[in-house]
Amino acid sequence: MHSMRSPHVTIVGAGFSGLVAARELEANGVDVSIFEARDRIGGRAWTDERLGHALEMGATWVHWMQPFIWTEIARYDRSIHPSPVADTAYWISAGQVHSGTEAELDAKLERPQTEIFAGSREFFPFPHDPLHILDSADADLIDRFRAADEGGVLDALRDGDFSQEEIDLADAYWSAGYNGHTASASPLMAKHWAALSDHRLSLLDEQTLRYKLVGGMRGIYEAIAADLRAPITLNTAVTAVAHTESGAAVTLADGTVVDSDAVIVTAPLGALDRIAFVPELPAEARAVIDAGFNSTGFKIWIKVRGHHSLIAYAPTGHPLALIRSEYFLDDDTTILVGFGPDHSRIDLHDPQSVQEIIRAWRPDLEVIETTGHDWVADPWSGQTWATPRSGQFLHGWSLFRDTSTRLRFAGADWASGWNGVVVDGAIETGITTARRLLADLRR
Ligand SMILES: Cc1cc2nc3c(=O)[nH]c(=O)nc-3n(C[C@H](O)[C@H](O)[C@H](O)COP(=O)(O)OP(=O)(O)OC[C@H]3O[C@@H](n4cnc5c(N)ncnc54)[C@H](O)[C@@H]3O)c2cc1C
Repeated sequence: MHSMRSPHVTIVGAGFSGLVAARELEANGVDVSIFEARDRIGGRAWTDERLGHALEMGATWVHWMQPFIWTEIARYDRSIHPSPVADTAYWISAGQVHSGTEAELDAKLERPQTEIFAGSREFFPFPHDPLHILDSADADLIDRFRAADEGGVLDALRDGDFSQEEIDLADAYWSAGYNGHTASASPLMAKHWAALSDHRLSLLDEQTLRYKLVGGMRGIYEAIAADLRAPITLNTAVTAVAHTESGAAVTLADGTVVDSDAVIVTAPLGALDRIAFVPELPAEARAVIDAGFNSTGFKIWIKVRGHHSLIAYAPTGHPLALIRSEYFLDDDTTILVGFGPDHSRIDLHDPQSVQEIIRAWRPDLEVIETTGHDWVADPWSGQTWATPRSGQFLHGWSLFRDTSTRLRFAGADWASGWNGVVVDGAIETGITTARRLLADLRR
């Protein structure tokens, strides 16, 4: 480190990864400045008052098997509570609505999911080092690993003896899980999720959709921000980053240039085309930015009259892939949460059109109000949670991990463990990027 003064690092973005990176750097004597384009902190985690309730516009569910978020939950003395189990499950296949219990629905998913998860043990012996086997001496294994990055996540079901009902259920599940089209979704991510969940569907469901924070995500991201000395300048987009081996300069939207010893960019892939990098990023990283991730979907909150305890699935072709009852309010209404693969197929703020969509399962449900945030249309995300297109598990997120200059990337999109999808990965990279940078600044 420079002996006469503390090093100074600029962080672009005040989501989980930016806040955690700032905390890690400050704890090691670095001066930090954070510039955030939006008028709030939290990024793709955003607890807001809507429909008469605190609702998560982005991240909701957490789990003790996700090591980085769990550390924060312990650190800030937070607690979790479960989402409700549904009384009735509905699923659409070949235009027919079926119904049963949630346990029956899960049982029907077990067989196709086992096929989709196939290879998870040999491909991911160390789930937090997802490209580990590329170093293997087993050429055949590497070939099969590479091949598994191509095609779509449902391809595994096409040649087998799977019924249309099983394929449609898996389609609905992964349209929600990838939050994008299943046909273009790299099959490797599903196998990686399986490896992060002891290869068990029940644990995967528990990790991604069961436990949420008492007090919401804001209870954590506001607590991290409160631990910082660094100024967080809101409403201030970074438009350009000039980077060398010894420093970096960021240009703010008003033209101001801020010099520092390094910059950590935490903007998601979908927002990177708004930043001019000088020198330009390597061609293969630029190609990933141009292609974007597979995350073209949405999350919606739907308030309906009466108390209804349900979960419902629908395959490609239906704007909503999954809805589930989340809150039963005292005024005899229920708030459902929903996910679909294509944000252009729904108006998140139009109850009437949403009513038409959920008629497919339950014509009697009366939609009162809806809300959500269109993360794909939002210039500061351009996507929802990061999920890889075909080929991007091997040629996507990892291209942003190593740089030869003082420009560094952090963010869930580049995580090794829960890569892209959850806050856990944002925290992981906030820590690891900050630590690698510290080592470099001390050299
Ligand atoms: C709908 C939805 C549901 C989700 N559900 C879950 C869930 O249930 N559980 C879970 O753990 N995770 C969930 N996630 C994922 C989770 O929200 C993200 O993985 C995590 O919040 C990403 O944090 P980050 O810091 O990497 O990125 P972000 O939160 O996106 O932070 C990046 C920040 O950079 C800012 N920024 C971008 N460009 C610029 C610029 N040019 N100048 C200045 N600032 C800029 C952005 O405004 C943003 O604040 C969900 C995400 C979405 C969208």
